[in-house]
Amino acid sequence: MTLTNIGPDCRDNKHPACDARAMDLETDEVTDCDCSCHAPAEVECSSCGQPRPADETAYNPMQAITGGPLGWYSGDDGEICSDCMTNIIRGSNR
Ligand SMILES: [Zn+2]
Ligand SMILES: [Zn+2]
Ligand SMILES: [Zn+2]
Repeated sequence: MTLTNIGPDCRDNKHPACDARAMDLETDEVTDCDCSCHAPAEVECSSCGQPRPADETAYNPMQAITGGPLGWYSGDDGEICSDCMTNIIRGSNR
């Protein structure tokens, strides 16, 4: 079981109102709110540097095979936005 400390505002889905603090239920101390909305959005394309949009879909190889729009690639070798993925995969034979 994972114990996460979520602030009351985040628990109520009022994320902008949360001050990123929560009560640690075990120690009764103020701690950081673990809600994902406080996570820094620092994922950016390692090729062109644009930040990943929140609604960006994830890349999967099927998209390349079926010819559909490519999603955001994220792997051990870096983050690549959908535009750059399209250039890498399809750019050479366009
Ligand atoms: Zn939140
Ligand atoms: Zn919060
Ligand atoms: Zn890019």
